[in-house]
Amino acid sequence: MPQGKDYYAVLGVTPTATQDEIKKQYRRLAKQYHPDANKDDPKASDRFKEISEAYGVVGDAEKRKQYDDMRRLGAFTNFGGGARPGAQRPGASGPAGAPGAGGAGFDFSNIDVGGIGGFGDIFSTLFGGGARPGARGAPEAGQSLEVTIEIPFRTAALGGKVPVELEVTEECGTCRGSGGAPGASMKQCPECSGRGTISFGQGGFAVNRPCPMCLGRGQIPSEPCPTCKGAGQVRTRKKVLVTVPEGADTGTRLRLKGQGGKGPHGGPPGDLVINFAVTPDRFFKREGLDVIATVPLNVAQATLGSKISVKTLDGKKATVRIPAGTASGRRFRIRGQGIPKGEHRGDMIVETTITVPESLSDEQRALMEKFAEAANLRH
Ligand SMILES: [Zn+2]
Ligand SMILES: [Zn+2]
Repeated sequence: MPQGKDYYAVLGVTPTATQDEIKKQYRRLAKQYHPDANKDDPKASDRFKEISEAYGVVGDAEKRKQYDDMRRLGAFTNFGGGARPGAQRPGASGPAGAPGAGGAGFDFSNIDVGGIGGFGDIFSTLFGGGARPGARGAPEAGQSLEVTIEIPFRTAALGGKVPVELEVTEECGTCRGSGGAPGASMKQCPECSGRGTISFGQGGFAVNRPCPMCLGRGQIPSEPCPTCKGAGQVRTRKKVLVTVPEGADTGTRLRLKGQGGKGPHGGPPGDLVINFAVTPDRFFKREGLDVIATVPLNVAQATLGSKISVKTLDGKKATVRIPAGTASGRRFRIRGQGIPKGEHRGDMIVETTITVPESLSDEQRALMEKFAEAANLRH
């Protein structure tokens, strides 16, 4: 007959608190009730465990969602571990509406939870079934990271190298993850008796969490590592020179194997996944492998025809012959000056736009009027 606790009440936050608020509150409470700071108060240790257990669930967005789902279904009838009998029971419309508020525990085995799988499933995901992997020093894969970087249009089109600076959480190099200062001796963790996990037994079912005192290591150093303050992990800045493939576009993904965080206890490093976001260019737009450049022509150039000089993607000069009577929006193709991709290379397309003078000199005005007269006569 397992019972659920109101983890929000344990942490003293509302069920609508943000992950950030929950984290802040947890830190505050963990500091206040840490066994090290309350050696004369045996109750503090229990409270500390309770807080850690609650944070282990609602401090994790995914587990919190499942926990909230269960609350909605009314699975927990005894909120607050008895401290607040009959406190708000959400979702009494669920299949678990039977037992009265403030009543006994709830029997999960009889519930048919349509749609979201059985409670067994939820519980195994919710509590992870035991200690964190690698908590006792087994090799673990390093942190994989995914970042989005902005790259200029030309770098994306033609390829190139872009330096990227990242923050990664890695095993501390000073203590190699042990959390102990160099030369420090290790003793068995008094909190978990060296197991690395603490079980929270309640109404017939036990849940294992990594021990908060030794962080799941089972050992406590005589002196904490000065670099990581005993955490065994550090946040480091890492510089990576990313090679942008030619023809890259917004949405292009690149996986750099082994460029993520170092793996703890000699495990393989994580990967680095790069997403590209291409910043627009002042001059070029992209259409597949072609690049479009809009070129302004004045009325005389468009009417009489002319030769104009344009800059290509590579920065070279190209000449485009504009025939007499060119309209706005007409396209001229310069072959092979677009975006390269493998064997192919797109074209550069020059699109005309006719600009009309906003003001005219007396001479220009006279000539324009003459032009207008001549045009009228012809019709
Ligand atoms: Zn360290
Ligand atoms: Zn421990």
